[in-house]
Amino acid sequence: MVCFYSQSTKNIKAPIRTCIGCRCKYPQNTLIRFVCRTGEDLEMEELKKLPGRGAYVCRSKTCIEYAFRGRKRINTSLRVQLSESVITEFKQALLKKEIIADEKNETASS
Ligand SMILES: [Zn+2]
Repeated sequence: MVCFYSQSTKNIKAPIRTCIGCRCKYPQNTLIRFVCRTGEDLEMEELKKLPGRGAYVCRSKTCIEYAFRGRKRINTSLRVQLSESVITEFKQALLKKEIIADEKNETASS
């Protein structure tokens, strides 16, 4: 099957995944992947590959805010029933991490 993305991004080898925040498609390696392994909490995938059903979000505050705004979007994407507090907690951790990364970059460049 040849779809639009396989043609327009043929020079990018990474698989294309959808950000659950903005619903746009991007190469997998530019997105944050997170998984729900236990059915009770969320884990961000960093260096190691985590098994289980995963979802993707852009490395952008707007997308993170949007993706984790309510629990419906996450629960639908991952086919789980997480509580709102679990999702909010994960969102805060993710945002904090992204902000820390930004600060590090600024310090390194100055
Ligand atoms: Zn996005």
